[in-house]
Amino acid sequence: MVEVDYKVIVGLEIHVQLCTKSKMFCGCAVEFGAEPNSRVCPVCLGMPGVLPVMNKQAYEYSVLTAMALDCRIPTFTKWDRKSYYYPDLPKNYQISQYDLPLGENGFIEIPLESGKTKRIGIIRAHLEEDAGKNLHTAGSFSQVDLNRTGTPLLEIVTEPDMNSGAEVRALAVELQRMVRFLGVSEADMQKGHMRFEPNINLAITKDGVEYRTSIVEIKNLNSFRALERSVNYEERRQLDDFLETGKVMTMGSKTTRGWDDEREVSVLQREKEEAHDYRYFPEPDLVPVKLTPQWQAEIRANLCELPLKRQMRYIEQYKLSDYDAGVLTAERSTADFFEQVVEAGGEPKRVCNLLTQTGLKIANERGCGVSDLGVSAKSVGRLAAMVEAGKVGAGSSATVFEAMAETGKEPERLAEELNLIQKSDADELEAVVQQVLAENPNAVQDVTAGGKKSKKARGFLLGQVMQKTKGQANPKVVSEILAKKLA
Ligand code: ZN
Ligand code: MN
Repeated sequence: MVEVDYKVIVGLEIHVQLCTKSKMFCGCAVEFGAEPNSRVCPVCLGMPGVLPVMNKQAYEYSVLTAMALDCRIPTFTKWDRKSYYYPDLPKNYQISQYDLPLGENGFIEIPLESGKTKRIGIIRAHLEEDAGKNLHTAGSFSQVDLNRTGTPLLEIVTEPDMNSGAEVRALAVELQRMVRFLGVSEADMQKGHMRFEPNINLAITKDGVEYRTSIVEIKNLNSFRALERSVNYEERRQLDDFLETGKVMTMGSKTTRGWDDEREVSVLQREKEEAHDYRYFPEPDLVPVKLTPQWQAEIRANLCELPLKRQMRYIEQYKLSDYDAGVLTAERSTADFFEQVVEAGGEPKRVCNLLTQTGLKIANERGCGVSDLGVSAKSVGRLAAMVEAGKVGAGSSATVFEAMAETGKEPERLAEELNLIQKSDADELEAVVQQVLAENPNAVQDVTAGGKKSKKARGFLLGQVMQKTKGQANPKVVSEILAKKLA
């Protein structure tokens, strides 16, 4: 029998659109959805004789991201022209960075389903400008919208360290969370702020001999779903192809494919593609960038605790589940607000429940962040403390939180107004328990008889007390009184 074993190998190129106000080399606004060709000027239209000027903010955002990716940050970088001819690129070249990228040799940790993390190498990070957009919606005409031309793009290239579609997706999601935490990109997939190009091939062992299939690059994927599925598809397609034809990687055998989202298949686009086709050469119109130690320090000061680290810390420090910690660290504003509430004295698990079960729900409905609900961290902290002290039931706390977001009033006052203050006064509750026991002799008998019926009868008696107090009794206190009386 033929023994075949294989492993998929994936490296990723990612383009991230930076959230600067203006474009990379001119003053035009970066704006999504504006009237076509209304955000253009002689520079981004590629008119002869005009001069580009570097956007400092874009450069700093890029270096900050490279720092977060633990890259080596060279103190000298320059710009290069990458020549190609396409209607959406009016200059006929793209300004990019070729041999001296602004960051290299870094890594990113990604979470795995097992709860462990995996380190994926980063080969390089460089800054470049985006092209425009060709539109094919005017019948037999094609049109071009150059509003996007010159938008700053950070390109990140990983080592081929990923070994499944799920790992590739995890990296993409982690990078999205990271650039949002750093505040360098909105990373909105719907607006094309993140675009992915996986390079995929297989290492196959057949009868003890190792073979490599040709690398396939899939172009321009803009959703996590398409990214994961295209990798999974290529894995199967390349294995089938190898088993059928025995074809392996040779010099220059790399091909480019596109992803058909409807049919969920990859389609061959180009047979060969090599770097020298682009005839890179240094951009004569821009001065190189010298990153002084002081400037570097200023950029580094904007680094924050990265989301995955923060997620791990929440699990460790606050004993939250991996899931809860993930929800709280999905957005930096949520994580910051959570910590403010905890700092204000809220018990972490309580605060987590309040925010994930109620706060985020209201925020989603309003299309805002949990810190924008008009409810202060201190107020949420006090609500958490009220739940903790048994003054408000866990179930009622959602109602109080909703009312806080609605009215802006304080939790103590709302709990009173809404009649949600829990009765924990043992003397008062003892009287109610006594009355319920007197009214339900059969249930009392079932409890004292023990056995199967006992637990059910106990629950019934507790329910009766809750009903008599209109749900305002603290169930913990009632249970204790019941246990004592029925002992
Ligand atoms: Zn412009
Ligand atoms: Mn690029």
